[in-house]
Amino acid sequence: MTKFGCPIREGASSQPDAEALTFAGRSWNYGALDAEVRRWVAALEARGVGKGHRVCVLATNHAACVFLFWALGRVGAVLAPLNARLTRVELEPLAQDVEPGLTLALGTLRERLVGAEVLETFVAEASSDTCVELEEHEPRVVLFTSGTTGRPKGAVLTEGNFRASSRGSAANLGEHPAPRWLGTLPLFHVGGLAMLTRTAYEGGCLVLHERFDAETTSRAIDEEKVSHASLVATTLERVLDVRAGRRVPETFKLALIGGGPVPVPLLERARAVGLLALQTYGLTEACSQVTTERPSEADGRTAGAPLPGLEVRIVGERGEVRGPGQEGDIEVRGPTVMAGYWRRPEATREVLREGWLRTKDLGVLDARGRLTVLSRRTDLIVRGGENIYPAEVEAVLANHPSVQEAAVVGVADPRWGEVPVAFLALRVGQSRPVVEAMEAWCRQSLAGFKLPARFIWVDALPRNAMGKLERSSLRKAAED
Ligand code: AMP
Ligand code: MG
Ligand code: MG
Repeated sequence: MTKFGCPIREGASSQPDAEALTFAGRSWNYGALDAEVRRWVAALEARGVGKGHRVCVLATNHAACVFLFWALGRVGAVLAPLNARLTRVELEPLAQDVEPGLTLALGTLRERLVGAEVLETFVAEASSDTCVELEEHEPRVVLFTSGTTGRPKGAVLTEGNFRASSRGSAANLGEHPAPRWLGTLPLFHVGGLAMLTRTAYEGGCLVLHERFDAETTSRAIDEEKVSHASLVATTLERVLDVRAGRRVPETFKLALIGGGPVPVPLLERARAVGLLALQTYGLTEACSQVTTERPSEADGRTAGAPLPGLEVRIVGERGEVRGPGQEGDIEVRGPTVMAGYWRRPEATREVLREGWLRTKDLGVLDARGRLTVLSRRTDLIVRGGENIYPAEVEAVLANHPSVQEAAVVGVADPRWGEVPVAFLALRVGQSRPVVEAMEAWCRQSLAGFKLPARFIWVDALPRNAMGKLERSSLRKAAED
């Protein structure tokens, strides 16, 4: 069994002066980060936190989250990050579920979590050299999925999952020695954690931001020499808006765009200002990226091919494996697939079979093995037997000059079973088009059965901490 040490300790001996982390105007090189982590290890040991213990953390992005993450690895303990947007009532069952040996929260978030201690001052004066080696199968994180349906489940992600994800990502993107990765995704989400680990394994620097802000992101691209960033479609669009056509500097290599459908015109708009934006498909249960476009052949038309070491297949209704061009359920197999759901053997059996993870997403592979993600299974709209993928209709609507953003959800209909309803946010300075105009726009590129039965104008679309659309609340709104 291969065993793994801490990449921060390795960096402290191989390149102590290389920058490892920046946050809120401060910077740590590998030597300084290692010294900080050793003091966090001492603090954990003083509290008896050791192998297999869980530590709950409620925080927005902060340097302390990074120190804690690496310190927990050194004592063999498991991080259970909680979503900083959740309420006290939502957080309580999650914290109880993981039975933490220690609970930490940042600043005033402490009020939302019973028994939480102050995260930012948890560190000790003393320092400890403890650094256990971890085997591949050992759990590193319990990460609750956003849980749009039912009780959130904690995906157990192992040391091997993070290592494999990082290796696969680097191999796919090609050699970029020592990336400077812009971290605006929350560290309580798999996208944030994958970015944190990937940067460290590659000896790079995490340029951590407290939260996404379009101006700050744009400035980091210009002035902080960031080479990589992970964004979602809406945040990329906001960055492009504030840059107003200004080209990105040579220091910027690429951005990964995922978490939901990625409109091709948006990627093209990014490339027009020299910002190479690659579509990626991933999920918590597979430790972030599953497929990602290759920089050399990126056109935004697919989510790319599986990362090296991963397999993707499309499965039909009767469990048969489907060929290129045939739509069905996306399944993933390989070393990034989670160990299972925390203390939920039945839920685990439902999604993990013979190593294959059922993603509950629908998609299609092309002849070159590149994946197009069509929809989440639960978002698919079936109108009188015809399948409508919301992303396709949304892309057409969002292309309308008066539309800032669009979302399409299915609502029950006595005649058709289900019909699509569109929610639209008006672009600033535009006036609201009439229904007939919107219908005519759709007819230019969509079959009649895909036309929304209603167009509802809203100020903005509801989104979660990741910037992901909250479709369930739109469905409720459409039914009312
Ligand atoms: P999460 O459950 O928070 O881990 O988010 C993963 C989900 O986001 C996937 O199961 C998909 O439904 C969605 N998703 C991620 N990437 C894409 C993409 N490129 N296109 C469409 N949907 C995506
Ligand atoms: Mg999910
Ligand atoms: Mg999510």
